[in-house]
Amino acid sequence: MFVDSHCHLDRLDLTPYDGDLTAAIDAAKSRGVDRMLCIGIDMGNAKAVVDIASRYEGINASVGVHPMDVNDSLVNIDELRTLALSPEVVAIGETGLDYYYTKESAELQRESFALHLKLSSELGKPVIVHTRDARDDTISIIRQHGDSAVAGVLHCFTESWEMASQALDENYYISFSGIVTFKNAAALREVAKKVPLDRILIETDSPYLAPMPYRGKKNEPKYVVEVAECIAELRGLAVEEVAEITSTNFDKLFFSR
Ligand SMILES: [Zn+2]
Ligand SMILES: [Zn+2]
Repeated sequence: MFVDSHCHLDRLDLTPYDGDLTAAIDAAKSRGVDRMLCIGIDMGNAKAVVDIASRYEGINASVGVHPMDVNDSLVNIDELRTLALSPEVVAIGETGLDYYYTKESAELQRESFALHLKLSSELGKPVIVHTRDARDDTISIIRQHGDSAVAGVLHCFTESWEMASQALDENYYISFSGIVTFKNAAALREVAKKVPLDRILIETDSPYLAPMPYRGKKNEPKYVVEVAECIAELRGLAVEEVAEITSTNFDKLFFSR
């Protein structure tokens, strides 16, 4: 029923589950969160996320190098391609630009982002884009190196409507996390009211960014329901409708080719 389109299952705090990932996944499934996309952040955890996806029904993976993990050398694209060809892998990323935390590596981040976009186009697997304080560069690199027939998603979106609409023009989807439920996120809720329903995804980005009323606690996939409830309220829909719409969108983006 619900899809958590972006979670880091290899990094969850499993203390409440006695260290058992299966129990955390079952807790999500018992709230109707029956599918999850487990996101890779670097070459070090790529095998772990692919392994998790291969062990659980309803879980797929992405592989890539997070912009905050682009250090002094570029990703080995052949190694990334090999991992990306695993049948469980449906997307490339997360990649993108983060000038808020790691501006010092901006140039390398831009190169890495372009490489991920080219691989995404080559393999026909959409790209998972992380973007923070880098609106113009993110859009211009997508325009230059992206493939709008494959497209992707701006995940954990926190930017302006202007940026959202530029990404929509490139065929991208916009994914909202628990941030949309935060008290101080009124501007973001306005964006969430405007994104066309056939382009919205929902996610937890767990273990980070738990939605209200769990803000400040460790996040987990079962809390994607709270994100769906917030979007439902904003759009005047039933939560079941948001579940169905975002699941259909998820299928269209990642499983339609
Ligand atoms: Zn991210
Ligand atoms: Zn993430």
